[in-house]
Amino acid sequence: MPNIFNVFGKVGVISGDSMEKWELKKLAVCFNCKKETDQIIEIYANQAFVKCSNCGATRYYILRRVGIEDESIIEDEKHRKHKYEPWFLEKTAVCFNCKKEAIQDIAITETKMIVRCRICGFTRVYQFHILDIPENK
Ligand SMILES: [Zn+2]
Ligand SMILES: [Zn+2]
Repeated sequence: MPNIFNVFGKVGVISGDSMEKWELKKLAVCFNCKKETDQIIEIYANQAFVKCSNCGATRYYILRRVGIEDESIIEDEKHRKHKYEPWFLEKTAVCFNCKKEAIQDIAITETKMIVRCRICGFTRVYQFHILDIPENK
């Protein structure tokens, strides 16, 4: 895992927020190396990233806002036109807000990442920040 503190500087400092890291994988064609390979998704309380397991190209997202949203925030992304195909994932996890184990809907696009609890509607919206492509060795 790259040192996200260096990349983000002040912005990326993890606060006392104790949300556990969520880790997911998605098999997809990497926009950088063009190989179909696992893309590793890690979601933290105030930042998230998607990293190609082959070439290491990483997209960083920063938490932009939190709040209770209805499910249209996820549905809207499904119907919107995207430059790259958006990903829709689900993860069962203990919700940060309602503390229940619930399905969390996760939408990942080229501009944002949205995580929403199906029970209480608690939603985190992360905004795309930077792309880090490792230099060829
Ligand atoms: Zn790649
Ligand atoms: Zn919840």
